[in-house]
Amino acid sequence: MIRRIYRSTFIVVLTTLFLCVVLFAGTLYGYFENRMFGMLEQSASYIESALENQGLSYLESLPPGGDRVTLISSAGIVLYDNYADPASMEDHSDREEIILAREQGQGRSARESATLGQKTLYYAKLLSDGSVLRLSAAQQSVSALVKGMIRPMILIAAIALGLSAVLALKLSERIVEPINSIDPEHPEKGEIYPELTPLLKKLRDQNKTIGTQMDQLKQKQREFEMITRHMSEGFLVADANRKILSYNQSILELLGVEHLTQDRSLLTLNRCESFRKSVDLAIGGTRSTEVINAGGRNIRIVVDPVLEGDVLHGLVILAMDVTSQMEWEQLRREFAANVSHELKTPLTSISGIAEIMKDGMIKGDDVVHFAGHIHREAERMISLIRDTIRLSQLDEGAVDRERQEVDLYQITLEAARQLEEAAQRSGVTFEIDGGPSPILGVGPIVEEVVYNLMDNAVKYNVPDGKVSVTLSEKEKVIEMCVSDTGIGIPKEDIDRVFERFYRVDKSHSGTVAGTGLGLSIVKHGAALHGAEVRIDSKPGQGTRVTVLWPRPE
Ligand code: ADP
Repeated sequence: MIRRIYRSTFIVVLTTLFLCVVLFAGTLYGYFENRMFGMLEQSASYIESALENQGLSYLESLPPGGDRVTLISSAGIVLYDNYADPASMEDHSDREEIILAREQGQGRSARESATLGQKTLYYAKLLSDGSVLRLSAAQQSVSALVKGMIRPMILIAAIALGLSAVLALKLSERIVEPINSIDPEHPEKGEIYPELTPLLKKLRDQNKTIGTQMDQLKQKQREFEMITRHMSEGFLVADANRKILSYNQSILELLGVEHLTQDRSLLTLNRCESFRKSVDLAIGGTRSTEVINAGGRNIRIVVDPVLEGDVLHGLVILAMDVTSQMEWEQLRREFAANVSHELKTPLTSISGIAEIMKDGMIKGDDVVHFAGHIHREAERMISLIRDTIRLSQLDEGAVDRERQEVDLYQITLEAARQLEEAAQRSGVTFEIDGGPSPILGVGPIVEEVVYNLMDNAVKYNVPDGKVSVTLSEKEKVIEMCVSDTGIGIPKEDIDRVFERFYRVDKSHSGTVAGTGLGLSIVKHGAALHGAEVRIDSKPGQGTRVTVLWPRPE
């Protein structure tokens, strides 16, 4: 801009300078011509009056040099000329100034001599005798004048140019300075030309619009961040060049990445082949789902291409931890296999006995013995199925979650009553210590938990052993301890007894009826009530299981 103003100013100065010189020269030229004509006229008047007094002899006394004086008779014949021989001069009647003098008393004309580069001014005056007195003087022509003026003009122009160059530069800088000092954020501040007011108004309006749009964008960004930050699923957006544009913390945590690399390349997030393949598929426009391994965990990634028509703009990755889901699925598969296996044993037994009976090979008292066997196996199957159903219900969350106040003490007494017969058979006695202990719970589940614990305490006890149940109120919980004087659990098995179908000594299963599901039901049932289960056991001495039931608020 400075250059432009500078150039324009410079051109204006130059043009003005040139025009001034031309006009000045023209005016000067006209002025001098007029003065010269005036002088010729004055001299002509002197000569006229001298001629009238002294006659033609006066002309002879004219000093040499000076203006050219010519006297022309009324017939056009040159009578006198102080610069040429009159006899050699032609008829002058056709000269412009002569014609004018004859017509109007005086006449002026100017003629240029191309060869001399000079201009001659002629002044003619009609004398009283009809002759015409003509005076002429040479004046420099315009071109000669210009030629003569060229040097001073160049000098003046050079000075003017230098001066105008400096001034134009200063001027342009001064013009531009206030424009440069405009603060685009606050255009109203500072010293500004009134001509710029519309522009500044536009700038202000634009600033306002940009400000509003920025606020909206920031708000959207905040919302987006809030949503993605609190998502447990990982979320990531990348462009078509596999460069990460946006992501949440969860995806870094899920993929076990601490920081993004400098180039934010997507493929540095996970080096496994399936991840790369999914990304490639999305770049090709195809959605894909894969389970990848990251830091020992199973992460399911869903990679979607972002398409607008046929044009790919990038891709979106959703990641979630499916480790427990997969473990759970595995457990369910194992559970189904175990249930089938556990059912197969009593069924095979029943089927075998039935086959022998069909052939009529069992007779008399044996019938009672084998019927009892069938009954035991059927009972075992029933309890297995019951436990399986109960556990499935707990897994699915299908149990009635309606909580009501239940008394642990009453439930304990009831369980002891139910187990009375079995306990008596092996000489085991109950000792129940405590008083009313109300909790908020799902009645049948709490009963099942208490029953299973006391059942185990009886089952895995020694003859004439003891089962003691104590209920004590603590600050936030009701502590229930079920201890026995039984066979105990070896140290290496203690962590596994809550697993489904886990039984410490498989050889036991023949003698002690059990499904291996009891403690699983205890674990899930307690968890449903937010209760904690601890187990403590010493082989040969006994086992103590403690359940900490939350007290109602
Ligand atoms: P089960 O139906 O076989 O009793 P549980 O899940 O209730 O199944 O128990 C798992 C295993 O833990 C049992 O098979 C048994 O070996 C052991 N166990 C449970 N409770 C006791 C206890 N009070 N004393 C000794 N061993 C126990």
